[in-house]
Amino acid sequence: MPQKLSKLEEKAIKLLLKYQDKGLLQSELWHKLGVTSREGSRIAIRLEKKGMVKRVKEFAKDRWTRRLVPLIRRVTIDPIKGAPCISCEQEHVCGSGGVVSPQTCPKLERWVLESYREHLERRSARKRRR
Ligand code: SF4
Repeated sequence: MPQKLSKLEEKAIKLLLKYQDKGLLQSELWHKLGVTSREGSRIAIRLEKKGMVKRVKEFAKDRWTRRLVPLIRRVTIDPIKGAPCISCEQEHVCGSGGVVSPQTCPKLERWVLESYREHLERRSARKRRR
């Protein structure tokens, strides 16, 4: 079930999603949100209780603090861009037990294999750049 968020919690999550991998120190988030540390701590605790962030203890700027790491991910339609089903003329008769089915569709199989090949090429290119 979707979590109900306050305006500030929503704003905090949107900011944290920009730092998906590393998260943000809580003081950095409070600064970006324009809230006091007390108010910010409450937001972080509520987001943690809702399972949306984890608060990781960290020594930074000469003192112990918390890093807020989002546990949710931004969802985009990028992975399905170019899928043949989006513009398929047989979509209305496609499905399990239908005239055509994703399990046996050659167009879908070709697209999946091609997308996977492109993914592997991008990953290899990224590794070569490191
Ligand atoms: S699985 Fe094949 S037939 Fe079915 S909608 Fe996608 S492209 Fe069309």
